[in-house]
Amino acid sequence: MSRTEPALVLKPGKEKSLLRRHPWIYATAVAQVAGRPEPGDTVRVLGADGRFLARAAYSPASAIRARAWTFDEAEPVDAALIASRVAAAVARRDGLRGESDALRLVFGEADALPGCVVDRYADQLVVQCLAAGVERWRDAIVDALVAATGCTAVYERSDAAAREREGLAPREGPLRGEAPAPVSIVEHGVRYRVDVVAGHKTGFYIDQRDNRALVARWAAGRRVLNCFCYTGGFTLAARHGGATEATSIDSSAEALALAAANERENGFAEPSTWLQANVFDALKSMLAEGRTYDLIVLDPPKFAPSAQHVDRAARAYKEINLKALRLLAPGGLLFTFSCSGAITVDLFQKIVAGAVFDARVDAQMLRRLEAGLDHPMSMTHPEGEYLKGLMLRRM
Ligand code: SAH
Repeated sequence: MSRTEPALVLKPGKEKSLLRRHPWIYATAVAQVAGRPEPGDTVRVLGADGRFLARAAYSPASAIRARAWTFDEAEPVDAALIASRVAAAVARRDGLRGESDALRLVFGEADALPGCVVDRYADQLVVQCLAAGVERWRDAIVDALVAATGCTAVYERSDAAAREREGLAPREGPLRGEAPAPVSIVEHGVRYRVDVVAGHKTGFYIDQRDNRALVARWAAGRRVLNCFCYTGGFTLAARHGGATEATSIDSSAEALALAAANERENGFAEPSTWLQANVFDALKSMLAEGRTYDLIVLDPPKFAPSAQHVDRAARAYKEINLKALRLLAPGGLLFTFSCSGAITVDLFQKIVAGAVFDARVDAQMLRRLEAGLDHPMSMTHPEGEYLKGLMLRRM
């Protein structure tokens, strides 16, 4: 069988990262393609000396030319392997079920299913296939998900920009069951409606669960400003935690409409303020008006989609952090985030430290923040880390 499997032969020296079990094979590392693999086909990856390194999914259109399925020559890549990986990923989340109806069940490379994301909202599953390999095995993945969870409704949201880089057209729609109406979930005591069909990503920022809970814990008696609020996640957490008032800003009218509906559904006595605006402009006006807040959340979209954007992104992060620090009353708390993989934790801390300095305030860091436990990172794939944040107190 192995003789007929197509193969990628690497350039001399390019076997090193695979020997350390990093799962990506860059196009620039490949000397030769033997056989005629189609996108998503399994290929043997061989060193320049012909030694076996991995079995990987071939992706001819991508700069990441292949993603390793296994480093074990004896392990075939078949539906049984895929099913066992899915079942194991689901089982690993068992301990988290009590916290929320929304959990990430599969997180790509960290769960040995490169490019596959699966989120669970109550009994609705949402799947993203963002690489050629998991695209090829999509049916096996869905069958295994249904078997492992008992959920019978599965919706596909493979519409992320990552697919373009893989040469895959976007695709969305029901894979099992009907196209779902917004799904109702409860996270740490707050109810949210999640639009899995039209919402961002798979519908909700599940990765911020722990940080929303932290904000709730610190919100009592505070006037809260939530920037980039999307469907109201941090705002409703803060209100649940006893915030005295809340103002939330987003540029998306649809997100704000759902946020306001979520607020009503949770039965808070008074509606809070939902502002459709560009956060950069809104912060400037608020400063000009002399406003102050006791707790500010900054959770912007990915300012640096890749390494080329780091400088511009750093300036944008600095600008919003500087303004937020000036809007904080003494003793006020700032929860500030970056979900740009290209901005490291250290760099983000430097940017925010620069903002503290330029804002001419004193601040202390209470803790570093990250994604929840259902968003693990493989120790051999540090690229999987993306969400980072800081909790600061203005002195
Ligand atoms: N904190 C949210 C997720 C934020 S996602 C949660 O926990 O659910 C980022 C949000 O920023 C999106 O809703 C997007 O519409 C909004 N956005 C992007 N650029 C913006 C800008 N310049 N001003 C205001 N909102 C913006």
